[in-house]
Amino acid sequence: MFLKDRYDVVIVGAGVAGLNCALNLPRDKDVLMICKRSPKNSDSYLAQGGICRLRDNGDYDSYFEDTMRAGHYENNPAAVECMIRGSQQVIDDLISLGVRLKRKADGSFEYTREGGHSAPRICYFEDCTGKEITTNLMKAVKKLSNVTIAPYVEMLDIIEYENRCYGVVAYDIREKALKIIAAESTVLATGGIGGAFSHTTNFGILTGDSLAICLRHGIAVDHINYIQTHPTTLYSKRRGRRFLITESIRGEGARLLDKNFNRFTDELQPRDVVKSAVLSQMQKDGTDFVWLDMRTIPEKEISSHFPAIVKRCAEEGYDVFKECIPIVPAIHYFMGGVRSDLNGRTTLNGLYAVGETCCNGVHGKNRLASNSLLESLLFAKRAAKDIGASSAHITGSELEKAVSSLNKSAYRDPNKLLRQYIKDVNLAVRLADEGVDVNEKFKELYR
Ligand SMILES: Cc1cc2nc3c(=O)[nH]c(=O)nc-3n(C[C@H](O)[C@H](O)[C@H](O)COP(=O)(O)OP(=O)(O)OC[C@H]3O[C@@H](n4cnc5c(N)ncnc54)[C@H](O)[C@@H]3O)c2cc1C
Repeated sequence: MFLKDRYDVVIVGAGVAGLNCALNLPRDKDVLMICKRSPKNSDSYLAQGGICRLRDNGDYDSYFEDTMRAGHYENNPAAVECMIRGSQQVIDDLISLGVRLKRKADGSFEYTREGGHSAPRICYFEDCTGKEITTNLMKAVKKLSNVTIAPYVEMLDIIEYENRCYGVVAYDIREKALKIIAAESTVLATGGIGGAFSHTTNFGILTGDSLAICLRHGIAVDHINYIQTHPTTLYSKRRGRRFLITESIRGEGARLLDKNFNRFTDELQPRDVVKSAVLSQMQKDGTDFVWLDMRTIPEKEISSHFPAIVKRCAEEGYDVFKECIPIVPAIHYFMGGVRSDLNGRTTLNGLYAVGETCCNGVHGKNRLASNSLLESLLFAKRAAKDIGASSAHITGSELEKAVSSLNKSAYRDPNKLLRQYIKDVNLAVRLADEGVDVNEKFKELYR
């Protein structure tokens, strides 16, 4: 694909965060969106359970408290308030794009419930809410003449010069060519870091490149070891991505059982609590999994609400209507990330971070179920508005200086560099676990 060497905005990542940012930028901005592989290889397509919505003003206090409690009160209250207050608009925006969400006969939303929520407030479409949302966002972005989507183009670095970001260095996999792409604003929307670990629900390509790059450039990252393990993924001896069994199945009444088919925990506690209960039960029982029993849910509800799960379990040889399925926890979601304010601004001028890549503190230490699609969409839109309002303009000579400051030999072997980023992410997580100041440590290592 022909790529110019200059755009107004470059967005790295084509999940819900990247797409919603593109959709909300002014139409006179020339925008490039790159992604590592096909746009369908984003976690946004995988989201099953749903997306939270403030039901009404009476729900505000309990939604706020549920989010804070799940996050161990380490959340940024301003970010939580911003997300909850903006949630109805996010859902309205989605509906205006054609997104279908389950309704009752009277036309009002049918809400489901997941762990950590004191009330049902999750909008959903079957068990593939993410696919429904992302497909419609993509359809809308593809109609925009000011946005170019370039798949199979991976960011290897940002262009940083004199405390400003000037775009990205990327590798076009199909052309086997290095691309220097200058931009007035650069948006990191590269998702989570599950791909840097062996057992994960995430796409393997999501390895935290933005984090490694930011650490090397001295751009602040926060809570790099705040990684959520999902308590229930389908146990399989096969290698590869773990298939998620959404929490809303437990919200609808599924039970967790030990090796003797006895219930051992309250299934609707926050994720980290249920995960610990599952792991300690496995240890007690000496097993590689515990059982999930869906037969407590009416068959009609299972078929209509969870068709993809029924199908996938059948492919693995389980009939969910007749038997329990084996489940095991797996790495799922990244609460930490590139430090950003409520408009997505990072600590480097001209550089934004949105979606799972960023950390604006909204999730604290542990994300409340179904808050992440919402957060990604909402803060990506805010970043787009901030970029639209900014009067930043890069002159040709500034750009030349920035580009000529690059050491291009560092990008000779893109795969080796990306493998090194995975090592950096693992190192950073380990150091953070040991209480080391990761930002300072990487400055020592790379600056
Ligand atoms: C199985 C599963 C189920 C989930 N269910 C729910 C749910 O029900 N509700 C909910 O709220 N959340 C859910 N989540 C979480 C939610 O889906 C994600 O947090 C959210 O979609 C993240 O969106 P994003 O746009 O930030 O990242 P993603 O959708 O992951 O997109 C990341 C993009 O970045 C690109 N990228 C990465 N690195 C590079 C690079 N170096 N160069 C170029 N491009 C790059 C990728 O190609 C991809 O396009 C679920 C997650 C998973 C894995």
